Amino acid sequence: EELYGIKNWGAGYFSISDNGEVLVNPYRNNKESSISFMDMISGIRERGLDMPVLLRFENLLDAQISFLNESFLKAMKSLNYQGTYRGVYPVKVNQQQQVIEEVTKFGQRYHHGLEVGSKPELIAALAHLKDKEACLICNGYKDAEFIDLVLYAVKMGYKCFFVIEVPGELDLLMERSKALDIDPYIGIRIKLSAKAGGHWTDSGGDRSIFGLNMSQVITIVDQLKEHGKLDCLRLMHYHLGSQIPNIRDIRSAVLEATRVYAELVKEGAPMGYLDLGGGLAVDYDGSNTNYTNSRNYSVEEYCTDIVEAVMSILEPSEVPHPIIVTESGRTTVAYYSVLLFNVLDVEKLEEYELPDQLTEETPDQIKYLFEAYKGLTLKNIQECYNDGLYYRDQIREMFKHGTISLRQRSFSEKIFWSLISKIAKEKTKLKNPPPDLEDLESAIADIYYCNFSVFQSIPDSWAIDQLFPIMPLHRLTELPKRNGIIADITCDCDGKIDRFIDLHDVRSTLPLHELKNGDDYYLGVFLVGAYQETLGDLHNLFGDTNVVSVRIYPDGNYDFVKEIQGDSVADVLSYVEYDPKELLDRFRETAEDAVREGQINPTDRREIMRAYDTGLRGYTYYER
Ligand code: PLP
Repeated sequence: EELYGIKNWGAGYFSISDNGEVLVNPYRNNKESSISFMDMISGIRERGLDMPVLLRFENLLDAQISFLNESFLKAMKSLNYQGTYRGVYPVKVNQQQQVIEEVTKFGQRYHHGLEVGSKPELIAALAHLKDKEACLICNGYKDAEFIDLVLYAVKMGYKCFFVIEVPGELDLLMERSKALDIDPYIGIRIKLSAKAGGHWTDSGGDRSIFGLNMSQVITIVDQLKEHGKLDCLRLMHYHLGSQIPNIRDIRSAVLEATRVYAELVKEGAPMGYLDLGGGLAVDYDGSNTNYTNSRNYSVEEYCTDIVEAVMSILEPSEVPHPIIVTESGRTTVAYYSVLLFNVLDVEKLEEYELPDQLTEETPDQIKYLFEAYKGLTLKNIQECYNDGLYYRDQIREMFKHGTISLRQRSFSEKIFWSLISKIAKEKTKLKNPPPDLEDLESAIADIYYCNFSVFQSIPDSWAIDQLFPIMPLHRLTELPKRNGIIADITCDCDGKIDRFIDLHDVRSTLPLHELKNGDDYYLGVFLVGAYQETLGDLHNLFGDTNVVSVRIYPDGNYDFVKEIQGDSVADVLSYVEYDPKELLDRFRETAEDAVREGQINPTDRREIMRAYDTGLRGYTYYER
């Protein structure tokens, strides 16, 4: 358990069984309801679905929504807060229909609503949100069509807030509201001067692209007064950015925002809703620190700090406690999905047998390289490393100029990699290894070729170096003897993972097991429910993976409640404007030409066409 830190990042949902398999359990404390991933994989195989598969656990979504709401309600109760909490789920974090359906279903008992930032998101949200107590927060750019829909929703009794993000938006809203004779619920998004640390925090701070600065806020208030519509101003919103690792940043933003809120009340606006946006971070590496991939607070602490901060500002001004809204997306859905894939092959750095001595005629540069290898000690480790790189480059140059043969170059490479392996072994004895030797482990690590696409399934791992917990799903009673990095099947040099979570730092390799002859070896990437699914792209035309949704019952039974077939080859080709039927016709012509030219006979042609057609209808990943 310690090797992969599952206790630290698993939030009680994931654990390891006595027989070494990873388990999922949405009911945390109820041991009976733990299900093994390997059990689910055999069920998935029986259904004829190939890897990679994205597993979605609807109970985990339910559990996270409850956890967030209960934590806020508990904090409010213990602090004697007079308002309440209304969470909204930002659709952009995972827009899949199933997610929205489940969020609105499980959220109903807490009046958990939705946040949208575009017309398609609004249209999806309007069809799913049935709870009129829940908020529907509309951010983003809005045209007349968007505004009209929001106004109609208000007319139907929905708490649908129109959030003004840029100064020019109010005019069109007023025009449409007059035309339809419907008063909107208006919110304003403000820019705070507070700015938080982390990967995704450009939405906060003075120069953030969205939100109104204080003079624009006053202009909007004045314009509303002129229109006689200040009574429509009900909500104030800000969003500091996603995955905010430091609670102090969250706290100072809440304090600043609540001051603005209190001033808006003083201006005469009814208000009532304070929307603190997203930012509640997920502890991806389990370190519980203010590192980018973690957070130095718990969900309970987040809720308590927010409620306390709001109360501390409002107490002296006697402004009534507002309904607190947060737009937590990442925390709501990250745990929900796990990506499963199999390992296709492993490439190991060979251990070479080198002679004791080199022959006289060996070129000098190869001799010097060999001396670095032979003479390596702890004391001269850096010097030998420098020599190794220097002579390797010299030998490459010599090869280019024709002064050494391919055989000699091949021999020099064996010496070089033997030297690097020796340095990596020696380095482990040093308390403070030289910084140059930092990435050595990944240079000599095994490469595990895995059946998935980084770009399609975990794009943030490639785009912004985000870390996700990754581990084998079985064989965990055996000590993994290899250190590996992961390569996907896109054949892109960026299609790899060579940074892994660690409690204290980032690891450059992952402990993995040797492949056993012919046996499948499965890995899981955890906490991928937020942002990854729709950000993923078709690099090398690897399409959407198969998706299987699981419902787990407290007694340990489970159902596959939904299966969504991943993209076929024909699907992905049609996304890039090929017509699969036309492709078949074209290839048939090619095959017919080959028959005419005598390269194949008509029976071959039939077989070849069948293979092409099967390929077109098949999964884009490696099938077995
Ligand atoms: N609200 C807005 C306006 C956002 O832009 C985002 C995403 O960055 C969120 C909420 C979701 O934030 P998080 O996933 O950190 O909860």
